[in-house]
Amino acid sequence: MIAMRGVEKWYGDYKALTDINLTVASGEKIVLCGPSGSGKSTLIRCINHLEPYSAGEIRVDGTLLGDDRKTIDAVRREVGMVFQQFNLFPHLTVMQNCTLAPMRSRGLGKAQAEAVARRLLDRVKILDQADKFPAQLSGGQQQRVAIARALCMKPKVMLFDEPTSALDPEMVKEVLDTMISLAEDGMTMICVTHEMGFARQVADRVIFMAGGAIVEEGHPAEFFKAPKHERTRKFLGEIL
Ligand code: ATP
Ligand code: MG
Repeated sequence: MIAMRGVEKWYGDYKALTDINLTVASGEKIVLCGPSGSGKSTLIRCINHLEPYSAGEIRVDGTLLGDDRKTIDAVRREVGMVFQQFNLFPHLTVMQNCTLAPMRSRGLGKAQAEAVARRLLDRVKILDQADKFPAQLSGGQQQRVAIARALCMKPKVMLFDEPTSALDPEMVKEVLDTMISLAEDGMTMICVTHEMGFARQVADRVIFMAGGAIVEEGHPAEFFKAPKHERTRKFLGEIL
């Protein structure tokens, strides 16, 4: 579903990603972790071209991600993204947040887009808030709307960038539960998160990054029990 080969990313003369090789199969769930500044956000933002990559190759569902508008739009239709800061449109209601992109870029009519949105808002247990504006919702509710909004595009892959780290502790669970249910439904997911309970429960592979490179990866059972690299041990020692 996603294939990254020899990917590099430079910000000016700073190399943020070094020789990233990562293949994610359809239905696979990846948890990406690592210290601040290790390149986790950069890596997942390259997958939907929120950041252009500098060298190597990224394919999404077979399509080579190039610099042309048409390819970028095609890839973005398949890739949903959820950010730490929700990034909902503040001037639109929950329902409008969910129907805008499907109407604009999937060509759905209003009634059709609303029917899809109602189903997905119900799925994230927030249908009763459909006519509210984002500022009228709690952080956990806003994040569930952001997940529903992404799902309304019927993505083949979902990318999460620390979706719970801006939330008050009591709201973390409702968002993680939503992600777990998505995983159980077979969604392909790459999640940047330090929620290691979630990683243990859901991940097929945990990937540890440091200094812009993938240092090690493994099944959570192995990864947590017997990390191979000193940097991984140090990192796990700090967060667990
Ligand atoms: P965090 O855990 O703090 O979110 P991260 O692993 O997501 O960190 P990135 O945001 O990918 O790290 O950043 C990787 C490196 O690239 C950092 O050193 C950062 O300062 C740098 N960087 C990120 N975005 C830019 C940018 N737009 N311009 C220049 N440098 C950037
Ligand atoms: Mg980040």
